[in-house]
Parts: sequence; structure tokens; C-alpha cells
Amino acid sequence: MSSASIHDEIHGGNAAACLEVAVALPVWGTFTYRTHTGLLSSAVPGRRVLVPFGTRRVTGYVLGPAKAVPANELKAILDVLDDEPLFTADLIPFFRWIADYYIYPIGEVIRGALPGGLNLYEFNQYAITEKACQLPDTTDLSELEKAVLDCLREGACRLKDLSTHLERPVPGRLLQAMERCGWVQRKKTLLGGRTRPKQEKLVHLLHRSIPGERMTPRRQQILSYLEHHGDTPLHTLRRVVPRATAIVGGMASRGFVDVRESVAYRDPFGDPILPEQAPELTREQRQALDGIHQAGARGFAPILLEGVTGSGKTEIYLHLVADAIARQKTALVLVPEIALISQMERRFRARFGEKVAVLHSGLSAGERLDQWMRILHRETPIVIGARSAIFAPQRNVGLIVVDEEHDPSYKQDTHLRYNARDLAVVRAKHSRCAVILGSATPSVQTYHNAQTGRFVHIEMTRRVTPQPLPEVDIVDLSPVRSERGLRKHLTPELITALGQTLERGEQALLFLNRRGYANYPHCTSCGEPVRCRNCSITLTYHRNANAYRCHYCGHSRAANQPCENCGAATLWHFGFGTEKLEEAVERLFPAARIARMDRDTTRRKGSLLRILKNLQQGAIDILIGTQMVAKGHDFPNITLVGIVCADTALNLPDFRSSERTFQLLAQVAGRAGRGERPGRVILQTYTPGHFTITAARKQAFHAFYEKEIQHRRSLGYPPYSRMVQLLVSGKNRGATRHFAETLGVAGRDWLQNDRAWKNQITLLGPVEAALHQVAGRFRWQLLLKGTQPSTLNRFTRELLQAVGPPRGPEAVKVIIDVDPQAMM
Ligand code: ADP
Ligand code: ZN
Repeated sequence: MSSASIHDEIHGGNAAACLEVAVALPVWGTFTYRTHTGLLSSAVPGRRVLVPFGTRRVTGYVLGPAKAVPANELKAILDVLDDEPLFTADLIPFFRWIADYYIYPIGEVIRGALPGGLNLYEFNQYAITEKACQLPDTTDLSELEKAVLDCLREGACRLKDLSTHLERPVPGRLLQAMERCGWVQRKKTLLGGRTRPKQEKLVHLLHRSIPGERMTPRRQQILSYLEHHGDTPLHTLRRVVPRATAIVGGMASRGFVDVRESVAYRDPFGDPILPEQAPELTREQRQALDGIHQAGARGFAPILLEGVTGSGKTEIYLHLVADAIARQKTALVLVPEIALISQMERRFRARFGEKVAVLHSGLSAGERLDQWMRILHRETPIVIGARSAIFAPQRNVGLIVVDEEHDPSYKQDTHLRYNARDLAVVRAKHSRCAVILGSATPSVQTYHNAQTGRFVHIEMTRRVTPQPLPEVDIVDLSPVRSERGLRKHLTPELITALGQTLERGEQALLFLNRRGYANYPHCTSCGEPVRCRNCSITLTYHRNANAYRCHYCGHSRAANQPCENCGAATLWHFGFGTEKLEEAVERLFPAARIARMDRDTTRRKGSLLRILKNLQQGAIDILIGTQMVAKGHDFPNITLVGIVCADTALNLPDFRSSERTFQLLAQVAGRAGRGERPGRVILQTYTPGHFTITAARKQAFHAFYEKEIQHRRSLGYPPYSRMVQLLVSGKNRGATRHFAETLGVAGRDWLQNDRAWKNQITLLGPVEAALHQVAGRFRWQLLLKGTQPSTLNRFTRELLQAVGPPRGPEAVKVIIDVDPQAMM
């Protein structure tokens, strides 16, 4: 149905009905709109509608019939924007749960869940008037007014864009004055909604011959092509038969063929993948599978699958997904990042072919939308994706897998700050199915849940092909602390091992969790570090760009500028990043083929996969990288892993720094010796006695956990408590601090005066955040701790409601982060 005919129905119908609508705006709750019975059939849950909201028109999402109909006059829905729902009705309770738990507007939850490029917004645009076009040259115009009119002559535009085009601020006052003169005109325009799946014309054969119809050679050609190839896009026929468009048109009118519009999916898959049979499971795998089946037989079951790397967890996932499909159910597989998705995708495609859809940020907006629609149309019962795939519009979910469940990238750290691992458990509960959290180094949270019986615990301790875990040698960096330059970071042990590895024709991996060239550039004369203008940190020198860059806000400063403090010309490049490491290794091993994998070298689409491919094909001898290289890639020829400095993340002001460090080290170490030959790991550290380092050395997760959980218990940190972080930020230092303090005082008052709250909630802060300024915004934080998530949730809501939103011109913002991951 076209939206025009829907429009008729809306305005033509009589009997009214009421719908519950979530609007795509930062406002709480849902709203009731009126519609007509004629429309009810099209305004079904999951479709977007255009609704009046205040003085604007905005996108809304239909959630269903209104529960209660208010007495006052209701506004009517203006239009239905979709011909079919964009999400399924069974996702709605999930969205409601998320909005409630994360204290986030439900319309924004849905907007963030849907593939981008679908939303309509209304903007004020300025256009030049006829009168202004005819202004005589003698008119007295200011230079800015002239520039504005010249710019508008090329098309209407928003105030913001005017400033961008003219490269200087254009005040709103000026345009209002020009409007009063009748030179410009303000109009409301809808923007957005541009990404649409590509439509194509598909030609379908109806009759090979029709009595009385002439058969020309061209018609003949088209008919035999269709006979051989089945339904064919018109543009393909055009390549085969000259003037195919006109000929097909004629044939369609005679009844030979039928031309239909169909959606053209852009396939994100690359190379052909050969089908593969499932191998016979090992005894341990069979036991694990039996355990999972038993646990999952009664509907909802959260399961921790703890298995050392190479124990065959992925094979278990493949079996479980096959089971789900055999039961006519769908399956959702979450993988932490793009490079791993492609690896997972390849294995799933080899087993399940076209049944797989993929969702991740590496896809273009159009590709994402295509995948989304395929899932909605039930063409693909399996979805593999990064964290946002937890919102995939699958019906009838029978299994959810979260691979590498401990990975911090499951937590989204902007907008809706959800954790996809936690949401997987919630969605499984709503779908009454099993959820498998897989890892070799589980998160403390998940392991604790397994220990306390909330999750079923299944363990696999043996590698499928019995390789020993790599040997880890610890090299103490403290004796070389005072060395200068390279010798400080590349110890003789590491250099020797690298040389031997190259001689044997094997590959090495060097891990340093810090990108750039030098992370502590400072002035040789006054000692002042080169700082970011917007953030409270030093800039990092990037040699390729010959510039200093901020890793938080992206601010960049040319390297040939003098010290901002004293004007001296020379700056020292102190500190060590992957870029400098690469240069050093190149100098040590000039014949070796060296590549670097970090955020700087993988910015462009496809570059990460290219590096991995080169590594796999043996075109790289030494790969240098940040935590990107730690993720579970499987490269059999890597026999040496060098951890250049294990301590980089250990001393961050964050209660999870030990957990993060342990996971990273254990994972990087696990990259060595995945093939026939044994692996070796050299772990360089300043703190060889730290329990995190000694546990990581032996990949002893349980030993690490026992120590770590004691710390958490004694300090009352998660999993012994739940946390909500309130992050207050603003451009004005005083106003930001003031609002943070207002929240703090109000919160303490409440706790003091209310016994029930007092016993359950602790308020810490406000304190200046460890990163006290980012991108020009000052940051303060408050931390709420409690044992009951529901109490904590209620306290947070009521506190923010009582204090009210920040007022005044300073635009102070409060971000609510439920179960915060990073405490900086
Ligand atoms: P994990 O995900 O636990 O690291 P994988 O599932 O990737 O482990 O398995 C490691 C390797 O062993 C892979 O190359 C996989 O193909 C292989 N493998 C897994 N299970 C079996 C099996 N039952 N028989 C033979 N090979 C297997
Ligand atoms: Zn910055």
C-alpha cells in the first residue's frame, strides 16, 4: 500500500481508535494518538508514523493499541511511513524493559535499535525570496548579508549549515532581521529517511509461447535466457540483449513475462565459501553439549560455557544453532568485533550457507538495512553480529550465543549505554530460550553468577588438537627502567627470540596497548607536556601524520609548532607507542616484513581484514598491534608473542583494571602456538609479582578470580553491588561543578532522611572525573551503589526528577550510566 492511499484512509475514515506511540525524541514515556478504523489495519506495531509533537512533526513508532484513553482531545497521526513493520511486536516488551532499566527514553531506544537512515526530522530552513533575488545592486547590504544571500541562491539551507559554508558564525538574529525585510523565508522541511533498499525490476517467465503471437529472435533470446537462469533482473537482461527494456515491455503486455519490483539485497559476503561437514565431536564437546541440552530443555537457561582457547566452543555453537533451526527456531550469535565476525561468519556460512545474516558497523547504511529486512522477512534464521545485533528483528528466537562474553566492547559507551551481554540474557528470558556465554577468560560478573548458581556452568579444559598452552617467560623491566630509548622496551630476551622466530620462518606478534609514536611529548626547555586544548590529557605524537593527536577528542596539532608554554622550538618525544615500536623493529630487522594493526591503520573500511589476510597468507613476519591483535584470531604460524609492556592498563583508576589486564594478557598469550609448532610468550612487565601477571602467565583464570573476588567483596564492588554512574558534563567549569554538587547534596539529604533508602544505597562523590575534561567539556561524577537493581533504579529516577533538569544557559548534561564499565 502506498503512503498516499494510507493518507486517504487516515483522513477519510470516521470511527476513531487510539494508539500508543513512542516518539523519537528525548522525552519520557509514550503518547496516545488518535487514528481512524480505516487506518488501524496499517498502523500496526512496528511501523513508523508521522505525528505532531508540540509545534513539530516527528517520527513515532507504533507500539500497539492505547491501554487507557485519556479524556482530553487527542492529536491525530498524520501519516504512516512504512509499508511494513520495521520491528516485530515481540521486541516491544524488550524495548520497554531496556528503557526502564537504563532510564532512557523508549523512543530513543527504538531509534537506536533500528538501522540508521530511517528517521525523519523536521528542520527550519532558510530560502532566498523572489524579492531578494531582484534587489538592485545599489541596496545597502553588509558583507555578511551579501554572503548569506549568495549562499542561499544555491539552495535553501539550515542556519547551522550556513555557518559551515561561510566558515564564520551566522547569528540567528541576522536571519530574523533579513526575514523581516522579506529577503529570506523560513520553512519547515523534513530531512532524513533517505536510505531505502534498492529496488530492481525482476523479469519472470510466464509463457514460453502464446498462440497468435509473433516470435522474433530477440524475444526468443530473452525467453531462453529466462528459461535457463530463472527470474532475472532487467539490468542483467540489458547486458545480454540490446534494447531489452523495450522488448520486455512489449512481452509483458502480451503476457509472455511478468515484471515485478523486488528488493535488491547487497550481499556483504566476499569470497566463495566451500560447504563443510560437521566433524565428529570430541568426548568433552559431547558432554558439554549434553549439559547444555539438559539445562536448556525447560526454556530460559543462562549458561556459561568456559573453555580454553581451541577447546572447540565454536563447534558447540554450530551444533546448537543447527538444533535450533531443526526446531523451527531462529538463532542469534553475538561476536565482539568486526574481524571476529568475519571469521565466525565464514564458519557459519560453510555450514548454513544463505541462512545467515550479518549486522555490524562495517556495513554501509544501505547494507545494514538490507540485512535487517532479510531478517524481518524470515529469509535468514541465523544472525551474526556485533553488540547492536541484540536488537535484530528475529521472531521465535530459540538460542542466543555471546562469544567472548567478557569483552568490554559489548558495552556501548555513548547514547544508550547498554551491555549487549546482559541484554542477551534478558532477551533469552523474554524468548524463553537458552543463552550461551562463551569465554576462555569469563568476566568476573558472569563467573560469579555461575558460582552462585544463577547460571549453569559448563567447562571444557582440553584443546581439540592436543597442543600444550604456550610457555610464558616473564622479563622484569625494572632493571632497564632508566635506560633510554629502545633498550627500555625491547629487551635482549625479546630481540633474541624475535631473531630466532624469523630464522625459522615463523611469525611473531608484538603487543603494545598504546597507539601512536610517543605518548608523552614535552618541551626540552620548560618541561611542559604537549596537552590537548579540550581534554585533560597529553597528546600523542603521530609520526606518519607529523602531528600531535588527542586520543579522546581527535584534536590535532602540527608537530612543527613551538612549545605553547615557553615558545622553545624543540620538543622531546618521550613514551612509546605502536608507531615507534614499528620503527624500532624495522631498524632491528630490516629484512622482515612488518605490519601494524591499530586504530590508525584500520580506519578505512576493509583495511583490518586485509591485514589479517596478509597475516594468514604469510605475507607478514611481524605484526605489531594494540588490543586489536589480542582478540581470538587463529593463526597457526604465529609461534612468538611479545607483550612489550604488560602494565599499561594495570594502574588505571578503575576497579576493573586487573580484570581487563588479565583478560588481555591471557588472550594475547593464547595467540601463540595455535598450529603444529609450540608457542612461546615473552611477557615484559614492571610488576612481575602482581597477582594479575602471575595468573596470566599460567592462564590461571580460577586463581585470578579467587584473588580478584576477594578484593571486590571487601570493597563492595560489583558483583557484590550494582552501580549507577551519573556523569555531569558542561562547557562551563563552575556550572558543571555546581550541578554535580546540587545532585550530591540532594541525594545525601534523601539518604539521611529516609531509612529505607539509607540502608540500601550509598552515594559517592561528586568528584572530578579522572579524565576531568574531554572535548572541551568539564566532567564530574557521582556514583550510586546498592544491592538491589530495582531500588537503585528507583532512587536514581526520583533523585533526578526531584532536582530537575539542569537549568541555565550553560547546557550542563547528565548522563546516566547503569552498570558502568569504565570509571574514568
Ligand atoms: P574455540 O572457539 O574454543 O577457540 P574452535 O571451535 O575454534 O575453538 O576450535 C578450534 C579448532 O579445532 C578449529 O580449527 C576447529 O575447526 C577445530 N575443531 C573443533 N572441534 C573439532 C572436532 N570435534 N573435531 C575436529 N576438529 C575440531
Ligand atoms: Zn582532546
